[in-house]
Amino acid sequence: MPGKWDWLKDELRASGMASAAPLVLRFIGGRLRGPDNLVKCALCPNMCRHACPVGIVDGRETTSPAGKARVALFLRQGRLQATRENASPLYACLSCDACSVWCPFGFSVADLLRPVKEKTAGGVGFKEFREVFENLEKHGYVYGEPKPSDSGSRTGDLLYLRGCTLREKHPDMSGKAERVFQHLGYRSFTIDETCCGMPAYNLGNTSLFRKLARKQAEKIGSSGARTIVASCPSCVYAYRVLYPKYGVEVKPEVYHVAEFLEDRLKGLKGEGSVVVHNPCKLAVGLGKPQVIWKILSSVEGLTVKEPRRSGRETFCCGHGGSAVPRLNPELARRIAMERGVELTEEAEIIVTACPTCKQAFQSNGFKALDVVELVHILLGGEQCSR
Ligand code: SF4
Ligand code: SF4
Repeated sequence: MPGKWDWLKDELRASGMASAAPLVLRFIGGRLRGPDNLVKCALCPNMCRHACPVGIVDGRETTSPAGKARVALFLRQGRLQATRENASPLYACLSCDACSVWCPFGFSVADLLRPVKEKTAGGVGFKEFREVFENLEKHGYVYGEPKPSDSGSRTGDLLYLRGCTLREKHPDMSGKAERVFQHLGYRSFTIDETCCGMPAYNLGNTSLFRKLARKQAEKIGSSGARTIVASCPSCVYAYRVLYPKYGVEVKPEVYHVAEFLEDRLKGLKGEGSVVVHNPCKLAVGLGKPQVIWKILSSVEGLTVKEPRRSGRETFCCGHGGSAVPRLNPELARRIAMERGVELTEEAEIIVTACPTCKQAFQSNGFKALDVVELVHILLGGEQCSR
C-alpha cells in the first residue's frame, strides 16, 4: 500500500533533493518543531488556501492565509512599518477558522494574526473600527445606544441572550424564540446584556474584550438563571471557549439555541425544501456541524439539502470576524454572493443559526431564515408565504 506522501518523496528524489525530504515531510505532516507558529505558517505553501473564503474570492497572494502570516511576520520583525496599508491584509480575515480544518498543524490564521494586530495597532488606527470600540466602551453594544423599546420579559426560568446583531437587525426574532421556548415548557426572559466582546477580540483589542467579558459574565451570573440559551454561535464560542482562557467564568454553561432545540423538538411537520448553511463558529468553533441538519431532518415532510461545502467544511457568509464588512464591504458582498449562489442551487430558502449569517444573506437578496424562525413557522406561529 503506497504511503500518502510517496509521490512527493519520489519527486524530491528525482530533483536531487532527497536530503530535504525529512524536513518537508515533517512540515506537511504538522510535525516540524523549532520556529514559532507564525513562522511556520509564513513558510507554508498555503496548504489551506483552497478553503479560505478570502483567499478564494479575493484571489490575491497578500490576503491568502500564508500571505497574511508573512505580512504579520514582517510587521512583527519590523521589516514592514505598521502603516494602514501594510497592516490592512491582517484584517482581510473572517475569523472563520476554515484554515484550521485543513492545516496540518491545526492553526487558525486568525489566532496567529491577533497578537500582531494587538501590537501594531490593536485595530485602533483604523477609523472604520473606532466607532465600534467607542460604542462598546460607552454602551456595551456594537451599534451605539440600544433602542429604548429593546426589552422582553424580565422574569422566567430560561435566560435568552440575544446578542447585538439580533437586537439591532432582527428584533422580531426575540418574540419568536420566546414562543418556541414556551412550546417546550420554558418561560424565557432577557436582561440588559453587554456585548460578549467578540468584535473587540476579532479586531485585536483584547483589553476591551476582557473588560466586556467580565461585565457580561457578572450580568449573566447575577440573573440567577439556571438555563441559558444564546442566539449567536460567536457569543457562545466566546462564553465557552474564550472566557475561560481569559480567566472569566460563566456558569451555568450557555447553549446555542440550535444545541438546545436539537433533542427537544418532536413531531414537527413541514413541506418544501430548504438548504442548510452552517455558521463557522457553530460548525468549526463549537464543533457542532450536524446540529441544524439534525433539527431539520427530524421535520416530517421537509426536504433538507446540503451545499457542496458543508459540515465542518462550511464556507463563511462573508460577514464573520467583524473586520471585512467594515474595511472592505465589497469583498464581504462578493463572499456572501459566492456562498449564497452555491446554497440556492440546492433550495431557495437558506436555513442557518446565526443572526449575522442571516443578515449577510438577506442584505444580498437571498431568502434566509434562522432555524428558530423556521421552527416558529412550523409551530403555526405565522403563515409561511414562501
Ligand atoms: S494555516 Fe496551516 S495550512 Fe494554512 S497557510 Fe498556515 S500553516 Fe499552512
Ligand atoms: S480564518 Fe478564515 S478568512 Fe481567516 S485566513 Fe483562515 S480561512 Fe481565511
